[in-house]
Amino acid sequence: MISDVTPASAGNNLDPWYGNYAERTSGLAASEVRALFAVASRPEVVSLAGGMPCVSALPQEVVLDSVARVMREQGPIALQYGSGQGIPALRGQILDVMALEGIQGSVDNVVTATGSQQALDLISKLFLDPGDVVLAESPSYVGALGVFSAYQARVVHVDTDADGLIPEALKQTITRVHNEGRRIKFLYTIPNFHNPAGVTLSATRRPEIVAVCQSNGILILEDNPYGLLHFDEPPPNALQSLDPDGVVYLGTFSKTLAPGFRVGWTLAPHAIREKLILATESAILSPSSFSQLVVSEYLASTDWQAQIDSFRGVYRERKEAMIDALSEFLPHLTWTNPRGGFFVWLSLPDTLDSKQMLPRAVRELVAYTPGTAFYADGRGHQAIRLSFCYPTPDAIRLGVRRLATVINGELELLDTFKGTGPLHVIHREASSALDSAPPTNIK
Ligand code: PMP
Repeated sequence: MISDVTPASAGNNLDPWYGNYAERTSGLAASEVRALFAVASRPEVVSLAGGMPCVSALPQEVVLDSVARVMREQGPIALQYGSGQGIPALRGQILDVMALEGIQGSVDNVVTATGSQQALDLISKLFLDPGDVVLAESPSYVGALGVFSAYQARVVHVDTDADGLIPEALKQTITRVHNEGRRIKFLYTIPNFHNPAGVTLSATRRPEIVAVCQSNGILILEDNPYGLLHFDEPPPNALQSLDPDGVVYLGTFSKTLAPGFRVGWTLAPHAIREKLILATESAILSPSSFSQLVVSEYLASTDWQAQIDSFRGVYRERKEAMIDALSEFLPHLTWTNPRGGFFVWLSLPDTLDSKQMLPRAVRELVAYTPGTAFYADGRGHQAIRLSFCYPTPDAIRLGVRRLATVINGELELLDTFKGTGPLHVIHREASSALDSAPPTNIK
């Protein structure tokens, strides 16, 4: 069994400090599937679970050259503390990167961060009091849900479909939350190649979403790690380009270069930017000078757009391998077919439970992330996030084939038990039959 979420402050006889922890640690929870992922990282398991970029597609010597040049030419600066806002040269280059998505910002309003994850944390720290509401897509990025929960905010999910957030659903959700007397601090959204849903907010909906937020005085937190990793057409322009005063935009070099540098950024309206710099200084003094200079040197000395193009080719091939394998091995199910990014969202029949099924999948040497990880309200049992960014196309095919063995095995068994009693009893019987069966894929 997978253990349920365990708050960091949960009673623990071995911890003499239990009782001393701040109340907010009740929102700190170990990932519900962390233990299984330790098993899933064994080499014989095909992991379709993590979101690790394919860094092996980045020529190592190019990175090495940038590191060497930085140390030769700017060593003392690279090894020193820097400004809380980030290195000005890099902030200027970040404007060039964002211009590819229709954003015209000012260098003054860019603040670099230790990955966009830290930017998410600092923006949350600036805005969220306990009990505040954050609106987010349904489903949403697990790492953001963790941050919001650590600040004791309540996430209210807004319905999405194949074209991303539904403007009418957003309107209705805002009205409902306001009628309950609760305060909405921002809408957190991933408009492009969504993690985990794989969908993209359509061009027609973008101004509608912005208008709904404007008319309700709701700030938008636009998180865009995947926008440049499109397989065909680029996505529509960023929400930020439609309302620079109403949108805080988050970007990162983690997917278009490498996550190991931990360099991301925020583009924020002036007043927010001021507070963000203070929050950065108080959290970390300054982001890594070394990492920022290496990224800056890389951008200055290489054809970085050609490198992004080469990443696109790698991920496009892997995405196609996954969609082909799903069509071949699980034709009776439905899934999203992303036009960029890292993730496919697979829907399961109502009779299956992605969280309960995971230990069985790991026994069959395939891992995935159950949909429950991407909801703050207990939903997601009938969905699975499959990532195609890290395994090779052959491994993806093998992984999906193993997953199909598990899913089809469960469906067949449930069919056998059909009509023998209430659904929960059928589940229990079928589960114990499956648990005692030998794995079929250990070859
Ligand atoms: N936002 C989303 C939607 C992500 O998928 C990720 C990485 N998985 C992040 C933010 C954080 O990325 P990083 O801190 O590496 O920039």
